[in-house]
Order: sequence, then structure tokens, then C-alpha cells
Amino acid sequence: MATKKEKKYVYFFGGKKAEGKADMKNLLGGKGANLAEMIHLGLPVPAGFTITTEVCTHYYKNNKKYPAELKKQVTESLKKVEKDMSAVFGSKTNPLLVSVRSGARDSMPGMMETVLNVGLNDNTREALIKKTKNPRFVYDAQRRLIQMYADVVMEKAAGLEPAEGKGIRAQLEGELAKMKYSLGVKTDTEIPAEELKKLIITYKKKVKQVLGKDFPEDPMEQLWGAISAVFQSWNGKRAIAYRRMEDIPDEWGTAVNVQSMVFGNMGDTSATGVAFTRNPATGEHYFYGEWLPNAQGEDVVAGTRTPNPINEIGKNEHTRHLPSLEKAMAKAYKELDAIQRRLEKHYRNMLDIEFTIQEGKLYMLQCRVGKRNGPAAVKMALDMFKEKLISKEEAIMRVKPSQLDELLHPIIDPVVENKTKVFAKGLPAGPGGAHGQIVFNSADAVKWAKEGKDVILVREETNPEDIEGMRAANAILTGRGGMTSHAALVARGWGKCCIVGATVLRIDVHKKMMASGTVQLKEGDWISLNGSKGYIYNSKLPMIKTADENSDFNAFMKLCDGVRRMNIRTNADTPDDALKARSFGAEGIGLFRTEHMFYGKHSDKPLFALRKMIVSKSEEERRKALNELFPFVKSDIKGTLLAMNGLPVTIRTLDPPLHEFIPTQQEARDKLAKSLKIDITEFDKRAGGLHETNPMMGHRGVRLGITYPEITEMQVRAIFEAAAELIQEKKKPFPEIMIPVTAVVEELINQYEIIEQVYKETLHKFKMKEIPHLVGTMIEIPRAALTADKIAQKAKFFSFGTNDLTQMGFGFSRDDIGGFLADYQAKKILPNDPFQVIDFEGIGQLMEIAVEKGRKTNKKLKIGICGEHGGEPSSVEFCNKLGFNYVSCSPYRVPIARLAAAQAVIKQGKNKKK
Ligand code: ADP
Ligand code: MG
Ligand code: MG
Repeated sequence: MATKKEKKYVYFFGGKKAEGKADMKNLLGGKGANLAEMIHLGLPVPAGFTITTEVCTHYYKNNKKYPAELKKQVTESLKKVEKDMSAVFGSKTNPLLVSVRSGARDSMPGMMETVLNVGLNDNTREALIKKTKNPRFVYDAQRRLIQMYADVVMEKAAGLEPAEGKGIRAQLEGELAKMKYSLGVKTDTEIPAEELKKLIITYKKKVKQVLGKDFPEDPMEQLWGAISAVFQSWNGKRAIAYRRMEDIPDEWGTAVNVQSMVFGNMGDTSATGVAFTRNPATGEHYFYGEWLPNAQGEDVVAGTRTPNPINEIGKNEHTRHLPSLEKAMAKAYKELDAIQRRLEKHYRNMLDIEFTIQEGKLYMLQCRVGKRNGPAAVKMALDMFKEKLISKEEAIMRVKPSQLDELLHPIIDPVVENKTKVFAKGLPAGPGGAHGQIVFNSADAVKWAKEGKDVILVREETNPEDIEGMRAANAILTGRGGMTSHAALVARGWGKCCIVGATVLRIDVHKKMMASGTVQLKEGDWISLNGSKGYIYNSKLPMIKTADENSDFNAFMKLCDGVRRMNIRTNADTPDDALKARSFGAEGIGLFRTEHMFYGKHSDKPLFALRKMIVSKSEEERRKALNELFPFVKSDIKGTLLAMNGLPVTIRTLDPPLHEFIPTQQEARDKLAKSLKIDITEFDKRAGGLHETNPMMGHRGVRLGITYPEITEMQVRAIFEAAAELIQEKKKPFPEIMIPVTAVVEELINQYEIIEQVYKETLHKFKMKEIPHLVGTMIEIPRAALTADKIAQKAKFFSFGTNDLTQMGFGFSRDDIGGFLADYQAKKILPNDPFQVIDFEGIGQLMEIAVEKGRKTNKKLKIGICGEHGGEPSSVEFCNKLGFNYVSCSPYRVPIARLAAAQAVIKQGKNKKK
């Protein structure tokens, strides 16, 4: 027993008693805590003890030394285990064997080490043979110990890094294979006892020869060697890489579980297996798993033998002929089935369990909450809610927003992807997966796609002129650019797979080649992209489709809608996108960019009129061009207002700097000049006059409307007339006119005068009393946020343009951040890309100030967000905290935002109660 003053480092479990329980995961690791919990439930768990994660922390802080009390506490707990198992560790008559198992807080599957059969040597072996009368099994156990121990303790933990295939484990496997070959047998289980005995001698020789040390025969030395090796494995290469990927802190450490061995390799009435309480790939509610007769530990997962389906219901066309545990060992199966039901009820979640059957008797070796994919997560959450196993709130919290993506996009078959080497990496800009043949320009993309080919458009970066090719391609890959670059924004809007900023690629669009390292790819070569992770593969990988019309998905979304407070809108520029978003549950449009109609399909005529307007010199010339443009703008807006009938549509007045629209090709310039009846030198002069050094901070947004009131006038008239016509057609349009890039309230005052004048004129023209609408502004310039009290006296709503707000607030150009963001993240200067996740501390503060000041002078101020952050879960949560009325995001992110908004209410409600 640990005395009062002594710190407790070791927790015993066994028989009917356990010192730990399920909620002690931080201290005991997931495995240790759950083993203890199973004991409390009265389940058959072999006795053992857990060495806490604090020991791991201590070990690394103190130059790999253990706390002084540890040895004694381990000895005491080992005595209890011996008593419980009626066997003695190291005894030459009645030996106890143990396993030494890792166990972090969060499971890190396969990342850390486990050693089985610790305590076996040539003496204890003979005793065990006498006791079990099963020499074959004992020899098998010993050769496994040597193999695992040499690998885990003597090689890996000692820091040796042999070349691939040259490790001790592989070399010993080689000896085993040689023996099987010479005996003419296929499986391990066919090797006779006497031969295994010889193999042990060969193994020991090989260990000495390769590692220069004898395999330790002393059981205590084996035990402490294995314990140290497990702690060491916490800082193994694989484990560190995994922690980085999953955001697990290094400080957590692992626990070590020492547990009496039970044996699944004692013959045909013994077995081992892993199972899930529900199918983790589909979520279907039936016991699902695999097992192997006469096997130990990792045989099931290692893939050396093909495992059998655990029951009849789990069989498929490939496994129909194999024996199920249900039939082969009916009694043990029944007991296992009852236990899994009980465990699921107790944990109220789908569990992943490990078990072993020793001569007909069942033992539980592990249980934990099981990993699952997106579709399964949704189905299980919904089913468990219906079964009254969990509450509505719990069901909503069970699905990660990112998992919804898996239901909305096709993905690369994960089984194949896991086995494929990544060719290059970039930023995961558009989720989902795609495969296709490489093309290097927009025209080729369109042409090849028309011929029915799958293509992926590869560019250094994209610009509005690439739109058609981007539309035609299965996916887009760029060498430059960040998460809010043109390619990323456009792709996400369409729900298209996209990777940007793949800086390792050397792309030459003229030669139609790209390369990474020494591998060159040319036009027509196949690649596959995982846009959720940013992985690029240089081959054609198979895709799997996820259901579009998934009834579970819709029911789950309804659950979320019942809980969330904020509305979810979408950013959409066409009636098609608007309808798509509506089908995903969008409750309005938060950003309709008027300028979209000048890009892509059917844009020639309006673009021509716009260009004429831009290079006009006098107001008269400009008005003429605007009149030509007017019908296009009106019908465009009308179409979208109609698609969103009954829901609000926020229409932003012209935002980009005008010079963006000036054609670069001589032919187009000549044509424009001609239509304006000016010569080309005059045209060049006018176009040149529009050039700006820093256009993103130049003559754009509201600034255009200040200089050219007639531009605002035309747009606003188009909006009001479109709405008026719809009202007369008995529809319910609700436009919200939004002024971009506002910095001072006087800008708004200026624009409002124009808007009010046009409003009056429209009412008069249509003989109407009212056209329901709102006029408001974007908050995207820090100065606007800081003077929000003044701005809110004029604006009926604020919509945070967090892309520009981040750009202006940080002084980071969103188009160039790709050049240094990776360094910032690697050096832990920034935790995230601030264009993806709101920088809560800085930019978030600007938002907070704007909300507070704005609502002070305008109680009814409607507040939303239309930047890319509106679909990012933690940013959505932040907006909920600040009391936003809505968030707006690209159509495919609407479901994610619906879920995130519901989770925000649940999380923040919980915090309030505290
Ligand atoms: P991982 O965390 O990688 O799953 P485990 O510690 O669970 O590693 O060990 C792997 C396998 O070894 C288990 O699934 C189980 O089959 C076997 N094993 C571990 N401990 C014992 C034991 N005490 N008796 C029998 N088999 C064991
Ligand atoms: Mg395990
Ligand atoms: Mg902006």
C-alpha cells in the first residue's frame, strides 16, 4: 500500500476490485481506465495494474529516471496480481506471464508498443509445459516474446534505426518463413512443437548476432525493459508524427498497463478477436467484428492471417465461406454478445472491443469509444437518439463538423489511399476527393471534359479567366496561393475538390509539365487529390460516392436546426447556386456579388458594356454604357431573388477595382475603342489611368460609388425594380443592399441619399407604397469596426467581411500569405491560417468592439458574417458567442455551419451553467 505521503503511481485492477475507473483517463490512459471500468461492471478481465501517465512525464523531465516510490508500488501490485491469478511471476513451478501495454489518453492506434508473454524463459517455459501439457503453445509464446521484445525493447527503445526490411523483427520473421518453407507448411499453426523449439534457439542466436546482446532470461529484467520501452515509444518517430497530426499535446504522456496473460493460442478452443458494437463503416446497428482461432494478439490486425467474420450477419460475398465465432464457439460468442450489449448501454456509445478466448473461457482485454467515418457517425448519433440511449444534445455533439464533408463529397477510397504513397502536399482548400488527367490551361480543360475525360486543372494560380476550365475540371490544383486565393474560393463555392499552394511542385504550364523531386508528370497523366487533407497522388485512385439523398443526414440536420439560434445563409451569385444552397438548408443569401456576372458563361455582353462604362470619360458616356448594362444586372438579380423567394438576399454593390476588368488582349482592346469611337492611343491612356499600385486598397467598393454616383444609382435601381416586378408577380423578394469597404460613416450618408432617391422613383414608377428591403454595410476595414456606433446609426445591418478585415488587420495580403504562412505555423507564431480560422484575439476583438458599439446606437442592428470564416466551425462558434444573427458561407458548407451553430449553443449553454 502507498502510505499517505507517498504519491500513488500504480493502480491495481483484478477480480472484483479496481482502483481506477472510466473517468480517470488523464491519469490512467484510455486503456487502463476502461479496464478498471470493466472490472467494476463485473466483466472477466485478467488482473493487472496501470502505471500512471505522471510517471511518463516524470521520466522525461528527469532524464529518463523513475520516481523513487515506483519500484515498491510495482512490486506490491504485482503481488496482488499473483494472488488473484494463483501464479507467481518468474516461478519455476507455477509461472505467471504478463503483457506490457501502452495506453495514452486518446487512443493512438498502432503508434506505440506492446510486449506479450513477458516472464518466459527456458525455466518458466518448462514449468508452463508441465502445467498446461501443451508444449506447442508454450514454444509459440516464447518465440513471439523474443520477436516482440527484440524489436520493441532491444532495437526501437535503444534508438537503433535499421534500414527498411533490415530490422530485427523482419529478420526473425524471415527465419520463421524459412522454417515454414522447409517444412512445406503455409501457416504458423502447422509448425510442430519440436520445430518451434528449434526456432527459439535460432531466434536467440540471431538476436545476439544482429543486436550484439543476449536476449534477457531474467523475468524482472524483461518486465522493466518492457515498461521502459513503452515509455520510450511515447517519443518514437511514429508516435510524434501522429500527435502532430491529431493535435495531441506532447505533455500528456502514456500510461503502461501490466496485465496477466491469457492465451488465445492454446489450440482450437482458443481464439482472439476485435469487434465493434455497431458497424463503424456504415453505422448499422449490429455486432461487427473479426476473430482468429488459435491465435495471439496482433495476428488479427497484422494481416498475416485472414481473419474470420465474428457472426453470420456480418458475412459478405468475400467472407461467406469462412467460419463465424457465432457458429464455431457458440457459448463464448453468446457471452461476448451479451457483454458488448451491456458495454454499449453503459458507455452509451459505439465501442471497439478486444477479447481473447482461452480454452473456451472468454476474457475482455480492452474497450474504448470506437472511431467511425462521417456517414456512420451521423447514423449512429441519430439511431442512439431514437433508441433513447442519448439526448438530442449528445447526438448533435457526436458528429464532428468535418465529418459532414464526407457525406457531401465523393472521396478517395480510404482503404486504397492508406496504402498509397503521397506524391506531394498542398493546402486543403476544397474538401472531398477527385481523380483526373492533368491539363495545364482552361481551354484544354473544357475541351477534354467535353470529350468525356476526367481532368484536373493544374495552374500556378488561377484568375477569373480560368473560370470555365475550373468548372469543367474534376478538381483544381495550384502551386501558389492560400486558403482564400481565387482558386480556393471558387472551388469551395462549387463544392469542388481543390488543393492550393502546393509549393513543392514545379509547374510549367507552357511546357505542360510538372514535377516534384525527380518525378515528372506531363499533360494527360493521372493524378488523384484528397482535398480534405491536401494530399496529391500521382496515380488514378478509386473514388467512392456518398449518398446525396441521405435520409439520416436530413433527419440529423433537423435535430441541429431545433437547437441552433443563428440563421445560416449562403454566399451565392447565381440562381443555380442559390437553389443548391437552399437544398442544403440555407435560410437566405448573405453575399451576392454583383460582379460575378462579368465572369464565365454568358458574360460577354454584360462584360462588354461594363468595360465600356469603365473606360468612359464623361458622365454622359458612362451613363450610356450603364443603360446598356442595366437590363443584365436587373435580370440577374431578379433570378436570384426569385430562387430565394421569401428569404433575404444580401446584394453587394460593385466591389473590385475597375482595372481588373480591362482586357489585356489587343483584339478586345481594339473592339472596345471602336465601340466608344475613340482611337487606341486614347484607349490606352484611359486604361492606363486606372492602373493602381495596390488595387486591393485602391479605388474600389464604396469609393467607386462616391466618385461615380451613377454606378450606385444603376445598381440600386436594378435591385428595386427587380423586387418591384416580383412583388407584382405575387412573389416575396427581400433584398438587403450592402455597401462594401466602408471606412467612415460619411461614405454611407453619401450613398444613402442616392439609394433613397432611387427608391422613391421606383415606388412612383410602379405605383407602389413599399418595397421591403434593408440597407446596410460590410464591416471589413478596421476603422469601420472602431467607429461602429456611428456607422450603426445609418446602417440597418452589419455583415463582417472577415477576409478583408483579416487582411487589413494583420496587414497580410491574402493572395501572398502562402509564401510565409508555413513558416509561421512551423515556428508556432500563428496557430492557424487566420484567413481560415478567425484570429479571435486580434481580429476577433475588432468584431467584438463593432458588435458592442453598433448595438449601443442601434438596438435592432442585424449582424452577420459573409467572409470565408462563416463556414469554419470554431469561427461559427465565435460568432454565436458574439450574438450574431446569422453566418453565411459557401453552399457546401451550409450543413457544416448548421451543425457548428447548434454545437455552439450546446457548448456555450454548458459554460453558462458553470
Ligand atoms: P494496441 O493499443 O496497439 O491495441 P494492446 O495493448 O491492445 O495494443 O495489445 C495488442 C493485442 O495484444 C491485444 O489486442 C490483445 O489481443 C493482445 N494482448 C494484450 N494484452 C494481453 C493479455 N494480457 N493477454 C492476452 N492477450 C493480450
Ligand atoms: Mg488494443
Ligand atoms: Mg471585401
